[in-house]
Amino acid sequence: MAVPDLDNLLALLDDAKCFALVRQHRWPDGVRCPACASSTVIRDGCDETQRSRQRYRCKACSGRFDDLTGTVLAGHHQPLQVWVLCLYFMGLNLSNRQIAAELGLNAADVQAMTEQLRGGLVARTPEVTLAGEVEIDEVYVVAGHKGQPAAVAKKGGSAAAAGWRERRAAARWKRISPPSSA
Ligand SMILES: [Zn+2]
Repeated sequence: MAVPDLDNLLALLDDAKCFALVRQHRWPDGVRCPACASSTVIRDGCDETQRSRQRYRCKACSGRFDDLTGTVLAGHHQPLQVWVLCLYFMGLNLSNRQIAAELGLNAADVQAMTEQLRGGLVARTPEVTLAGEVEIDEVYVVAGHKGQPAAVAKKGGSAAAAGWRERRAAARWKRISPPSSA
């Protein structure tokens, strides 16, 4: 079976439609700011090299972003068409190896791409924001006696295992998160 000419295959995929597909997946209810989730967003021109890649400005937080900001598709060297084809082949249940052969990529690259795509177009795990009382587990405070020299002396060095919970409790502290700067 003849391997399809990748250049021709990619040329069949309309750039504007690829970006429309991304928008549709990403913002089924209208464009939202990835930074503050506001929907008061205005269009702000387009990318200089990718004319179909729409830019936006958020009126709520003044943040700027575009169709791919914050997606797994941003910052990759593969053109969007390659990602769209990869998605399409995944839908056909092709193996990573088959997709790699069709797209002329190496299997490791395709493995990374399909893993990312399976996780969703937009990374759904938000950055952890610490607030209030934060408990850090599996941390031992071993230096000094935490202001209780008598208790430490009484327990002695051999009580290491028995003192685990107490040490863990001692390792809890309050941390007030810094104002979010993200
Ligand atoms: Zn915003």
